[in-house]
Amino acid sequence: LKPLIEVENVSKHFSIGKNKTLHAVDEISFTIYKGETLGLVGESGCGKSTVGRTLIQLYTPTSGRVIFAGEELGDRKGKADKKFIHKNMQMIYQDPYSSLNPRMTVLEIISEGLLIHHPNMSGMERRTRVLELLELVGLNQNHANRYPHEFSGGQRQRVGIARALAVDPQFIVADEPIAALDVSIQAQIVNLLKNLQEEKGLTYLFIAHDLSMVKHISDRIAVMYLGHIMELTESEELYDNPLHPYTQALLSAIPLPDPKLERQRERIILKGDVPNPVNPPSGCRFRTRCPKAMDICSIKTPNWVEAKPNHFVACHLYE
Ligand code: SF4
Ligand code: MG
Repeated sequence: LKPLIEVENVSKHFSIGKNKTLHAVDEISFTIYKGETLGLVGESGCGKSTVGRTLIQLYTPTSGRVIFAGEELGDRKGKADKKFIHKNMQMIYQDPYSSLNPRMTVLEIISEGLLIHHPNMSGMERRTRVLELLELVGLNQNHANRYPHEFSGGQRQRVGIARALAVDPQFIVADEPIAALDVSIQAQIVNLLKNLQEEKGLTYLFIAHDLSMVKHISDRIAVMYLGHIMELTESEELYDNPLHPYTQALLSAIPLPDPKLERQRERIILKGDVPNPVNPPSGCRFRTRCPKAMDICSIKTPNWVEAKPNHFVACHLYE
């Protein structure tokens, strides 16, 4: 497996008024391999969208490095870098309603990237390419001259996917791409993303707020809490042997299909709320809600350790 993206000690802070800093993401490190889907899971506000945006440099990291195909991003400065990133790294947004310009036709929306990266393409060639893309995402040529409001949520998300694919990127951040869709449509979009990945060798960061759907699309899953990554391993392993108390709690919240098992299972109810990222707890950030917290947890931030082969966790129980 070849690394496509290497994230090294990346932090992203936002200053919010007088001497206040929001620690959206703090010192995270991980690798995304070529052709894989890495799921990124955590409650809303934990920093997962910030991670996605920082990887594709919509946000400049406060510190740390993002390396794409061996090249450090943000290194070349200016336009060339922006164009390189836009060509190789694209985003699919959560809300297919607000992420498409309502005044543009589908043809215009999908053409935008082509105009930037293939300025010599004729109008005819562009149209042909857009029609191919529409077909690829399960729409057809009758959709090309319509406006976003004429479509259902699922269709709009297909347009968003076609737009992301127009420039033939290698990497796509899908930021909760199914969260705003009807349950009946969610599996269709997940399957579409999977098929496109196979066909085009795409690499995904798939962001989600719970663990129920990510299992089906992710090769590995990272669990995030309050700006830190708490656990990262292969999907099966995460579901079968969750190590971090936070992951264990998240998994216990997923309903089981078998009613008998569902009745027997123990729910781990977390006490309290997620603390404010302006003033995160000392030591382990999960300690204010952790059922297994010990004295050391408030004093020392747990190290990121490989507790088992390919199974990483940040928790004093495993040091
Ligand atoms: Fe809980 Fe301590 Fe582990 Fe944090 S380090 S998850 S508080 S046991
Ligand atoms: Mg988000």
